[in-house]
Amino acid sequence: MAKKKKSSNYPEPQRLTFPEAEKTLPWLSMLLDSYILADKAIHASVDAELKKGRRLACAKGCSTCCATHVTIPVYPLELAGIYWYAMEGLTGDAFHIIQHQLAQFHPGAGCPFLVNGGCGIHPMRPLACRHFNVFDTPCGVGEDPFFTRRKDVLTPDEKGKDKALMAMLPYHGITDRAEKRETIKKGLIHNTVKNLQEIEWVKLAQRMGVR
Ligand code: SF4
Ligand code: SF4
Repeated sequence: MAKKKKSSNYPEPQRLTFPEAEKTLPWLSMLLDSYILADKAIHASVDAELKKGRRLACAKGCSTCCATHVTIPVYPLELAGIYWYAMEGLTGDAFHIIQHQLAQFHPGAGCPFLVNGGCGIHPMRPLACRHFNVFDTPCGVGEDPFFTRRKDVLTPDEKGKDKALMAMLPYHGITDRAEKRETIKKGLIHNTVKNLQEIEWVKLAQRMGVR
């Protein structure tokens, strides 16, 4: 008898759409295409671990990582997505809380997009946040399990990471397939990365205006 495949009930990611905005913002479609490539690869990697019997510790409301990590790489296209979402996508309390946190932000203060234990810009959270997944035990306060228990941190699929980054390259004027491959192979896109903590978030708070 054929062995039954173990299933994990881990939901498949779906590409997000912002139909109206995507009509006029081609870079937004590019970013969402990149994110679904990353999410699918991450899903496959996490699912493989779950099928081995591991448990994903990351869950809604668990956010020590967002409050304490001070090195979160952000690529230029991702930054455009964050700016757009903060100005156009946020509503209600989340808008006001994030605007206040951006205005008050100082390096070392934790992520300014953390709202009530959740990511306030979840659709636009950067690749670094998507890739960071921890198994079995939630992070302790101040703990970075990458250093304390590396075996519990997901090792994202490199091909999936590369595909997601490659999908961002037209934003930098790189459209030729061979040139894209070369750019990824040489890691040149990493030269464009910034640390989320180094951004002058007060400027975004100002651009968000009054509501
Ligand atoms: S990385 Fe750690 S703190 Fe963040 S959601 Fe996962 S278990 Fe929770
Ligand atoms: S962008 Fe969202 S997921 Fe990433 S650190 Fe900030 S609050 Fe957490």
